[in-house]
Amino acid sequence: MTRRLAKPSRKPAESGLVRLGLGTPWQCVLHLPLRYEDESRVTPIGDLTPGDHALTEGRLVHGEVRLRPRRQWIGKVRDEQGGELTVRLIHFSNAQLQALPVGSWLRVYGEVRGSLFGREMIHPRLRVSEPGAATRAGLTAVYPTVAGVAQPTLRRAVAAAFAKLDWADTLDEPTRRRLHVPPLREALARLHYPQTVPSADDPAWQRVRFDELLAQRLSLRLARRQRASRVAVSLAPPAADRLVAALRRALPFALTGAQQRAWQAIETDLARPQPMQRLLQGDVGSGKTIVAALACLRAVENGRQAALMAPTELLAEQHLAKFRQWLEPLGVRVAGLSGGQKKAERERLTAAVAAGEVDVVVGTHALFQKGVDFRALAVVVVDEQHRFGVAQRLSLAGKGEGVHSLMMSATPIPRTLAMSYYADLDVSVIDELPPGRSPIETRVIGNPRRDEVIAKLAQACGDGHQVYWVCPLVEESDVLQLKAATDAFEELRQRHPELRFGLVHGRMTAIDKATVMAAFQRHEVDWLVATTVIEVGVDVPNATWMVIEHSERLGLAQLHQLRGRVGRGPRQSYCVLLFEPGLSENARKRLEIIRNSTDGFEIARRDLELRGPGELLGKSQSGQPLLRFADPDRDHVLLEQAAQLAEAWIAGDNPAVSVHLDRWLGERQAFWRS
Ligand code: ADP
Ligand code: MG
Repeated sequence: MTRRLAKPSRKPAESGLVRLGLGTPWQCVLHLPLRYEDESRVTPIGDLTPGDHALTEGRLVHGEVRLRPRRQWIGKVRDEQGGELTVRLIHFSNAQLQALPVGSWLRVYGEVRGSLFGREMIHPRLRVSEPGAATRAGLTAVYPTVAGVAQPTLRRAVAAAFAKLDWADTLDEPTRRRLHVPPLREALARLHYPQTVPSADDPAWQRVRFDELLAQRLSLRLARRQRASRVAVSLAPPAADRLVAALRRALPFALTGAQQRAWQAIETDLARPQPMQRLLQGDVGSGKTIVAALACLRAVENGRQAALMAPTELLAEQHLAKFRQWLEPLGVRVAGLSGGQKKAERERLTAAVAAGEVDVVVGTHALFQKGVDFRALAVVVVDEQHRFGVAQRLSLAGKGEGVHSLMMSATPIPRTLAMSYYADLDVSVIDELPPGRSPIETRVIGNPRRDEVIAKLAQACGDGHQVYWVCPLVEESDVLQLKAATDAFEELRQRHPELRFGLVHGRMTAIDKATVMAAFQRHEVDWLVATTVIEVGVDVPNATWMVIEHSERLGLAQLHQLRGRVGRGPRQSYCVLLFEPGLSENARKRLEIIRNSTDGFEIARRDLELRGPGELLGKSQSGQPLLRFADPDRDHVLLEQAAQLAEAWIAGDNPAVSVHLDRWLGERQAFWRS
């Protein structure tokens, strides 16, 4: 038997509260109920509605322990109108049963379920009482909790905090009147101790949401201001605008208007003696990489270094190849750093980086691990930054003291998100695709027609096109995903021995992946079978077909990213979404959205509707749910108002700023300020 060791210095209840993040009085009062229990009214058994939580009463007319299908106690409660309720206990003690003798009158509180045998409650709260006994007044809050922290403990903690706090309101009376919200103390009292259940748009909830949005906005704007107060090297165009101009001359294409506008904004930022903090947002295929290359060159022509960070090794390899092709002819020294490199190789490269013998370094997050020191780093580009999460972004920005940073993302950011999660960045948008692209035609096809699709692809390959065949995650498991891709690879190769097949998956070494990708790039491979490792950034303009097996398993953003691997050249491109019949409602909606739109903005907006912003931003990656109560999309009016107030407070050095942040973020401020 294992026994858990208790920390001797803390009372168990306390450590439970700390585990829940309720170490301070403000954290306690901002821990808001999930729902309420209404024990003020007794509902006759006959009127109980499945799904409701309700209080009812009646006489226990029968009780027995059954052993099958599992050990449980089943009781029958009957009220005076003859209504009958089944009560089921799965965990119980003998002492508990002895306190419930048949014949006693019970008050029963719980969630009503409809079962084959009538109404039922599983594990309700049971109390021996008498007919017509007085009920408790008001509603009882039920709090989110973790195992081991009981509701009464939470209620006590909240009540104690209520009594202890200094409630001076951070919003003055005119502001509250303008926003139609109550004082904070009143709002929280209403949510913790209501007489009637507050509706979702109750002014009390609005107050909480407003305050939360305000806190987030304040913290991001302060983080931004703090970074802006740092000194960075000003990277002005040199007198003879050497490298940037040379690359632009050497390119086989001219920048689109949108690319030029983005570059101008970046160029202006770089010339300032404060660090650039810009997000470059552009749909899949809009041509962000070349803009990043120009930013890197601006550093190099000023005698400094630049780094480009990509979220996957595959993408880093591809960027490295592209940067070599673009920059090396200009005499720029480019190197790649990845986690997969041999120790000696890595040491040689890091030494070269530290000595300033490398101008531009391309790699994965391995770039920013310990042991990598730059001699004169001036520009950092983070590609597909949404993959890195908010926390990583902020810590990265904190690391590069005085370094200009450019974040790039193909995930379109609706205005509301830009105003909340990205309030610390300037944003440039590339809202135009390079010319000569033909729109991708998307088809949603059931698996029974898979053979037809294979035949079509074989024909396309015969005509000199290249194709992708993606086998997505079967489960959260690399191994299974790998099997799906390997099986498809073998099957397809046997069916079409005349074609050249390639296979890439996440378990290959970086070098093997790069070798296959390079072969695909040189058209030595016609048909590339892959897992979702090719999701981001891969760029092979001659590829015109993208087939995604089990597309119903993927999210909208992923589907859009994968589809973006084709349609990069002048030829008509196709995307086929294969699905297993028997789609869930949500999966059907996703496939319909992706079929009907190729506009990343539209897709992101629909995605937001289907999933909520936390998921879109990779809440799990950032480690902290950044907003608990507010939803920037739903609460966009509040968000605008919070943004305005935050600006005014910061501009006026309002002392409320720090009071408000202490209340809402407490220790978490360190996270934002890192
Ligand atoms: P993304 O924004 O998705 O990262 P890329 O930077 O990979 O897009 O660019 C997609 C493709 O378009 C690349 O092959 C790139 O060389 C090409 N490209 C970029 N800008 C232009 C342009 N102005 N005209 C023509 N092709 C371009
Ligand atoms: Mg890209």
